[in-house]
Amino acid sequence: MSTELMRAVIITGPRTATLERIRRWSPEPGEVLVRCKTAAICTTERRIFLGDRALYPTIGGHEFAGIVEWVDEDDPELKPGDYVAIDAVNRCGHCYYCIRGHDNLCVDMYKPRKDYGYILIGGGFAEYVTPLRSQVVKLPPTVNLEEASLIEPLACCIHSIKKAQLSLGETMAIIGAGTMGTMHVMLAKLMGARVIVSDVDEARLDLARRVGADVTVNPRRDDPVKLVRDYTDGRGADVVIVAASAKEAGQQGLAMVGRLGRLVLYASLYPPGNLEIDWNHIHYEEIMITGTEGKSGEDFRQAAALLGSGAISLRPLISKVIPLHELPQELALKPTGETQRVVVRL
Ligand SMILES: [Zn+2]
Ligand SMILES: [Zn+2]
Repeated sequence: MSTELMRAVIITGPRTATLERIRRWSPEPGEVLVRCKTAAICTTERRIFLGDRALYPTIGGHEFAGIVEWVDEDDPELKPGDYVAIDAVNRCGHCYYCIRGHDNLCVDMYKPRKDYGYILIGGGFAEYVTPLRSQVVKLPPTVNLEEASLIEPLACCIHSIKKAQLSLGETMAIIGAGTMGTMHVMLAKLMGARVIVSDVDEARLDLARRVGADVTVNPRRDDPVKLVRDYTDGRGADVVIVAASAKEAGQQGLAMVGRLGRLVLYASLYPPGNLEIDWNHIHYEEIMITGTEGKSGEDFRQAAALLGSGAISLRPLISKVIPLHELPQELALKPTGETQRVVVRL
């Protein structure tokens, strides 16, 4: 480690986060020194702050982007000053799943690479990070770094769309229009799909329509299952994405999915629970049910390419941009329906 200092927000215990000056990490062989510029707050960091996940002391910020400060001078692609996104996940490259091309399920994924004295969940809430070269993806100089902090969640939605085997022009129903549900809308529209979105929050439905949803429904007022059936001549949706963490959402998803349809349980469920499945519905209609976990290295690069080329704009998902010193107060706020991603500028 160098003797230079950097600013970092550290979550030291339940409901306690402080801005501190800590020693800056130095890159080791095979690593790149990146100056973090933007990092978005995800549910993970909010859960750690609230004490739902007791991991302390933590430096969060796993959705982030920055500028290369130092890189091996022999690197064929990267040089200091380049804009980059960092894939915060470790992928060992040689386990059973990595070898088969499913590195989102790497068995070593959450093993810390070295001892920083802190639990690093990405570490983008500090001014510097030292990812492995393989985790760093170069972005064009035209890209907006605030939007680039959202490449990681976009990559997770790309993974989900692949699991859903969405074909051009199919009908997709999305239950839950948080950041992830809304990104699914954007990607599905890019693929020419017809998109139906269900959410109990009107502000979220409004955003879903602004980014291209064809029809929206509030289950507190109308029956989303009936709406999907009506909209598809009674067939049901080709793809259903359950991006809301509630058992009823899963049951609704099962009721919405049509013949040959694919149901993706995007959200996890806490406390854990079971779904009731009609055996014959799955059997006779050839329904597929799957989950989706994180993103592969390839998904991450594809997300970077979509943002870099301008094929997708993530601006509508940024509800607020704050400086690093406001992060502790921000973590203490309860997100509302208007809150999509809050991005920290470092
Ligand atoms: Zn996240
Ligand atoms: Zn692996």
